[in-house]
Amino acid sequence: MTPPLVAVIGRPNVGKSTLVNRIVGRREAIVEEQPGVTRDRKVVEAEWNGRDFLVVDTGGWLATDDGIDAQVSRQAERAIAEADVVLLVVDATVGVTEEDDRVAGLLRRANKAVLVVANKVDDGGREVDAWAFAGLGLGDPYPVSALHGRQTGDLLDAVVERLPGKEVDDDTAAQPAEPDVPAVAIVGRPNVGKSTLFNKLIGDDRSVVHDVPGTTRDSIDTVVETDEGPIRFVDTAGMRRKSRIDEGPEYYSLVRALQSIDRAEAALLVIDATEGVTHQDQRLAERVDAAGSPVVIVLNKWETLDAERREHVMADVGRRLEFLGYAPVLKISALTGKGVHKLIPALGQAIDAYHRRVPTGELNQVVQAAQGAHPAPGGARVLYATQGAADPPTFTLFASRPLPPTYLRYLERKIREHFEFGPTPLKLRVRRRAG
Ligand code: GDP
Ligand code: GDP
Repeated sequence: MTPPLVAVIGRPNVGKSTLVNRIVGRREAIVEEQPGVTRDRKVVEAEWNGRDFLVVDTGGWLATDDGIDAQVSRQAERAIAEADVVLLVVDATVGVTEEDDRVAGLLRRANKAVLVVANKVDDGGREVDAWAFAGLGLGDPYPVSALHGRQTGDLLDAVVERLPGKEVDDDTAAQPAEPDVPAVAIVGRPNVGKSTLFNKLIGDDRSVVHDVPGTTRDSIDTVVETDEGPIRFVDTAGMRRKSRIDEGPEYYSLVRALQSIDRAEAALLVIDATEGVTHQDQRLAERVDAAGSPVVIVLNKWETLDAERREHVMADVGRRLEFLGYAPVLKISALTGKGVHKLIPALGQAIDAYHRRVPTGELNQVVQAAQGAHPAPGGARVLYATQGAADPPTFTLFASRPLPPTYLRYLERKIREHFEFGPTPLKLRVRRRAG
């Protein structure tokens, strides 16, 4: 299920970042924007009362003639357009400013769920200051202190109430038609070659392609008939050559990437090999890994690299994407098409493995053989193993004592090799069992 989007807007210094940090608590920002035009923008994942949502800190709003500020304003406008809920943060110690008024007018016309957050109400005595903002015509303001956490819980209750569609636990309920068609997200930073690759994938004369409405607002998916069966590529509008759309500020392409990862069963992580593995690539990879989706790493523009550079990039992958050690790495040129034919089979294998269940008897034989060849330190023993779940394959090991992480990785490797899980992430859980 795609997390809804909450945009935080307001003048500089009203406390937007403080509020976002308060909402997010100790959770880390998943996307750190490149140093931006005027300041960094960020998208963070948040959760309240069991609801997950994304929070975009838009950085500020200043409608002046200055080009830089105009750009910031455009981003805020964009945030308003895309958001499910908008938090307009104002400073209760300052009162209503002309800019607050102007933004409020825009928000009233946008017909969005808007909450006015009167910030810096650090104690009850200041609450009366907050009421001035009722004049903005956006409903009763929420007096909070982002700094001290005062009444931020009430605010979050109100935010969550306004989020669209209750979370549905049952995955299938959220799926559109064609539930059997596996969904694949093509993700990567701008300009790594996603569009070129996508068009190469569907450009083959034999391929049958049709667009279907996606599950997120305004999104289009493309279903492609492949030798491995149909595959649904999610959120492809920005990648179709004919309908190349302006994706706007980079953080929006990142929000979209995060949303498509959540909707997909597998991801193609496209990396521009000429630039090596960047920090942003690493962040996306972490996110794919956290979603538990199998991933195929695609090193694009490979044809432009000399031998030395190729070696360097491979070392980069080994070091920076070590946590995806199970993922296949394909070296391709989306431009010339070299290596592209390997993608669909790699994806097919990943998706297959993702849904696979292995026989319990055979699993236990594999685990016992692994222990025979190489017993766990300290006399620990796995007594029994079972696959508790698929999507991704999850194994429960009943052990006499805790197993060290290195030993778990060893067992994981043995299970992966024996059952040919390939690029699919596996989860191993250990339960203590006397014996
Ligand atoms: P932004 O520019 O809107 O993101 O604002 P910041 O979050 O950077 O905050 C601007 C300043 O206001 C900082 O010095 C904060 O410490 C301060 N501030 C933020 N929230 C509160 C609050 O609830 N009470 C008080 N007294 N100060 C606050
Ligand atoms: P996107 O933003 O990730 O969709 O990237 P595009 O597909 O628009 O590609 C960005 C640029 O990289 C374009 O100029 C492409 O022609 C170029 N490009 C894409 N794939 C390759 C490749 O395999 N080799 C080379 N040399 N250039 C490529």
